[in-house]
Amino acid sequence: MRHIAIIGSGPAGYYTAEAAQKRWGNEVRVDIFDRLPVPYGLIRTGVAPDHQSIKAVSRRYEATALSDNVRFVGNVTVGSDVTIEELQALYDAVVLATGAPHDRPLGMSGEDLENVFGSAAFVGWYNGHPQFADLAPDLSGETAVVIGMGNVALDVARILAKTRAEFDGSDIVVHALDALEASGIRKVVILGRRGPHQIMMTPKELGELGHLSRACPRVDPADLPEIGEDALLEPGLRKSVTHLRGFAAIPESHRADMEIEVEFDFFAAPLALQGEGRVTGVTVERTRVEAGRAISTGETYTIPASLMISCIGYQTSPIPGVPFDERAGRFANDEGRILPGLYCVGWARRGPSGTIGTNRPDGFGVIEKIAEDIGAGSGKHGRPGFDQLAAERHLDVITFRDWKRIEEAETKAAREGAPREKFVDVAAMIAAREG
Ligand code: NAP
Repeated sequence: MRHIAIIGSGPAGYYTAEAAQKRWGNEVRVDIFDRLPVPYGLIRTGVAPDHQSIKAVSRRYEATALSDNVRFVGNVTVGSDVTIEELQALYDAVVLATGAPHDRPLGMSGEDLENVFGSAAFVGWYNGHPQFADLAPDLSGETAVVIGMGNVALDVARILAKTRAEFDGSDIVVHALDALEASGIRKVVILGRRGPHQIMMTPKELGELGHLSRACPRVDPADLPEIGEDALLEPGLRKSVTHLRGFAAIPESHRADMEIEVEFDFFAAPLALQGEGRVTGVTVERTRVEAGRAISTGETYTIPASLMISCIGYQTSPIPGVPFDERAGRFANDEGRILPGLYCVGWARRGPSGTIGTNRPDGFGVIEKIAEDIGAGSGKHGRPGFDQLAAERHLDVITFRDWKRIEEAETKAAREGAPREKFVDVAAMIAAREG
């Protein structure tokens, strides 16, 4: 028998479990640990609440979770409740599928001003992550500046621009829905240090911005390269740039009916955040792009901002004793291998890029490596060994069956048309398992 511990129940964790199950059938036991009492990681707390079709992938994970040889071990924090070394003594392979839950810092003055947030915190707030549910961003000002031109920046801009009715059918948590309804934000500036040909936004997601009921995107036609140059772009990026061209062509008469403007500010590298106590603006430097790189021009200007959200990427949490690649913000690894018996997968392996589906081949890849390394298993204790340790430490482990009761309570509490109203507090989640 092979015993595998996976740390993290997001997409990378569940695809790895699925791969183990497909490869070994009943000859493997997989325990998936999560520090939260609820599974699915980024699917629950990262994917935008108005993107329910993406969240539906959790049904596939449920099929994996419900098999006898895969088990959810929720409400257990690896590092404090149990150490990596203890897990390594019990399991043939320990796989870190911990994602990249921390914001990369901007590294500039003013970052600690009030109403300045990283996307992990802001997205966690509207998605009901217990760590960020109390964030209470002040939305009473007029202008939000969103730094970065990736899909997370798009999510944040769209969420700030939508009306309450546009959240129908989403699982945005009620504290965020109420705050957004009362929001005074009338302008969202998306700031990019490079140009339209260097955006990281994918076409489907960018296209959505053109179909909001009270908000309209604005692109300055002068920022767009000659249209002929689009032919050199990879097809996905070309489609995204075509959306930008569409936004640049929106007539002023259409804008006049709109309450909110979402403005793309290209060639603008943030230099410093301004304000005393609370953020009041972002000073940026004009850039020009040469061979894909942003070059300083020396020209600076300040954009007023009452709220600032930095969406410039994420990093993995280092774990003492586990080799870490500081520059890349992920575990140091060779195709998923970190140290003998210790592996990583997903964003913890390759950094924060790609779609949810990118994690599937990642999961199957790491199981191939584990198969090469562990053979038929080495007689470790696995599950019963962990259960004994959990009992000795009085750990309050949440099982998948408990989660199904928590989920049922969330479904029952849903607003009309919404799939669920999430618990945003760990104690409330745990209490809900009693039904
Ligand atoms: P991302 O795609 O890597 O975009 C990060 C952006 O931040 C880039 O525009 C980058 O500009 C900019 N940036 C980085 N450092 C900066 C700095 N110091 N100053 C100014 N700008 C800076 O990251 P993400 O948006 O966090 O997304 C992470 C992954 O999740 C991506 O693969 C994304 O596609 C995926 N995702 C997908 C969806 C979806 O499919 N619906 C939704 C959300 C996220 P440079 O290019 O100039 O470095």
